[in-house]
Order: sequence, then structure tokens, then C-alpha cells
Amino acid sequence: MVNGGSGTIFFSNCNLNCIYCQNYEISQLGNGKEISIQELANIFLEQQKNGAENINLVTPTMYVYQIIEAIKIAKNAGLTIPIIYNTNSYENIETIKLLKGYIDVYLPDFKYFDNELGEKYSNIKNYFDIASKSIYEMYLQVGLPQFNENGIITKGVIIRHLVLPNHIQNTKNILKWIKENLPSKTYISVMAQYFPTYKAKDNYLLNRKLTQEEYDEVLNFLYSLGLENGYFQELGTHEEEYVPNFNLK
Ligand code: SF4
Repeated sequence: MVNGGSGTIFFSNCNLNCIYCQNYEISQLGNGKEISIQELANIFLEQQKNGAENINLVTPTMYVYQIIEAIKIAKNAGLTIPIIYNTNSYENIETIKLLKGYIDVYLPDFKYFDNELGEKYSNIKNYFDIASKSIYEMYLQVGLPQFNENGIITKGVIIRHLVLPNHIQNTKNILKWIKENLPSKTYISVMAQYFPTYKAKDNYLLNRKLTQEEYDEVLNFLYSLGLENGYFQELGTHEEEYVPNFNLK
């Protein structure tokens, strides 16, 4: 049941394998329910009927072809709310090009500046090379965010970044790359909700939450860069039960 807010749909089997995944039961263990393309279209329509302000597709990468078909069916049957593509950014440019005209909002998570971190923590070799190109393509496709009269995004890109403990330089490098490669009005959501879960509990660098000092360092850096639309969470308000859910306002 949705009344306002995002109609969020989680897809099973992520193309990354992050050791700190907060949704590992869905992303890694494949929990979920198999549905047809028609059923997916019906879910979109049901979300709209229940008052969702958008359809938020989370980790959709493995199902792009089926999602496009479902969007076509749902649009023919009256779907009008914006479609959001919520991705870890490890996407082929060709995949992003395929989505042109079907996706209104991209929410790319920009994880690592250093390819080695991607290999170490997400079991992927060339994360930055791929993600930086795909995010740029998303930006070319839908541009800076546009909002409706209620302040809810209807089009554009918001880049998300989860700050990892002991890896503040990685965050700074990501922010610096955004500053140097995208417009200064680019929207960035800096997330402080990290907590050790899944395999990260056994990792000596990732087995704790962020400290206030680390987070202050990130925020000071963000301000110093002159990026105009940086958003950040308060540190220390997130428990393990918290499911990340950017409200898109
Ligand atoms: S990209 Fe996100 S959903 Fe996929 S494994 Fe990493 S943290 Fe989990």
C-alpha cells in the first residue's frame, strides 16, 4: 500500500557483490518472487493507483530489457508517474542509451574513485572506469533535476555516495571528480548511514560506523568545493533496521 512517496521495487541479484550490502538477502541470496513482464507492468500501475509519486526501480540492472517492456505496457495502460532508475552505476553506456525515453530520473550510487576498492569491496575490477562513464551518460540524457510543485523530483540525475569509514579520501576524490566533470549545480546526496553488516563485520577497516570527525571532514570538503546542491544526512540517527530510502524531495 502506498500513499504518496516512492513506489519502490527491489530487484533480486545485483551485479555487484559488496561485502557491506545492507540488502544482501535480496541482492546476493536471490530472495524474491519471480514475476512476468505483464505482472511487473501491473505492479507499476498498482503503485500509481495507490498514490505513489514515482516508480523507484532499485538494482534493476539485470532486468533492463524486461523493465523496458513492462514500462511500454504500463504506459499504454495509463502509467504517467516518473520512473526512477536507482543503480550502483556499474552499467554499460549502451544499457543507459537503451533506457532513453523510459527513465525520467537516475539515482546513481557513485561508490569508488579507486578501482582497487571496487575489487576489494564489491568484487568488480574496473568500477570507476565504468561508473564514471555511465553517470556522465545519464547526465547527458536527463540533465539537472527538475521538481514538481511539491518539491518532488520529476526528471534529472541525483548522484548518491555512501561514505565508508576509513575511506574519506575516496569520498573526497569522488566529490572532486563530480566538481571537475559535471556542472556545479549537480545534485549530490552524501549518505552517512553506513553500518557494518554482511561480510563487512569481519573487515578490520569497515567493521564500524563513521565517526563524527570523518563525517565533518567530508562535509567541510564538500563546502570547500563550491558544489551548490549537496545534501547530507545527520550522523548517528541510523539503526540497523533503517532501510536507505532517499525521499526524493
Ligand atoms: S550495489 Fe548495492 S545492492 Fe548491490 S551488492 Fe552493492 S550494496 Fe548491495
